[in-house]
Amino acid sequence: MAPQADPEPLVEGDASEEAGPSAPPPRKAVYCGVCTFPPEYCEFASSTSKCKQWLADAHPDLFKKLYSEEALTQKMASLTTKQAEDLEKDAAKKEKKAEAKAEKERKALQSSRIVLTKMARTKKKATTSLYGLHLFSPPLPALKAVAKGLSSRLATGASVSKSTANPNVDEIIIQGDVAEDIRDMIINRQKPFETLPKEDAGGISASNIVVEEEKKKKPAAKEGEEAGAGND
Ligand SMILES: [Zn+2]
Repeated sequence: MAPQADPEPLVEGDASEEAGPSAPPPRKAVYCGVCTFPPEYCEFASSTSKCKQWLADAHPDLFKKLYSEEALTQKMASLTTKQAEDLEKDAAKKEKKAEAKAEKERKALQSSRIVLTKMARTKKKATTSLYGLHLFSPPLPALKAVAKGLSSRLATGASVSKSTANPNVDEIIIQGDVAEDIRDMIINRQKPFETLPKEDAGGISASNIVVEEEKKKKPAAKEGEEAGAGND
């Protein structure tokens, strides 16, 4: 089957005994006639089956050495080991990713704030806005349900409206100066906050809740608004 005996040494020290008539060069590496890699690396070329054929024809001994059943079994074993290592690396990577994600979520929770803002409407009437519940997961029931719960617990009016600070998010406006009451209700997980995860389970803690006074707007604007309406 082999065309002409090729006395050329295959790889380092391999064929010295079978050296041909002329003195063989001490070492001569074989490079694949198809992909030009050393034959051990043909598997990384995209022409492996052609490489194999070329090697079988050009260097039957080397072909036998690389592709014998024994060699293949050995290779399979090492491939399996490599695959196992890859899997291990993959798993470690995923684990690291998950840890990073959890850490990120923990940090996000730490920096998330529920803001209870006291807003004085008139001398007698005040309202309180409750903003930031959307930052916490799992989400509470719809804000409307929370508002209803607050309304019945505090015996006052509560409604949902677009946040003045962030129109993309709703907030709850409660009649009366009830910021501290709501703060306590959240911390103690009282209705309607009973479904929030406990603090030691990574839930909202007191440090996540801010009670503040509304920043006063320029009174001139308000007066202007009122003056502009009505008179004709
Ligand atoms: Zn090749």
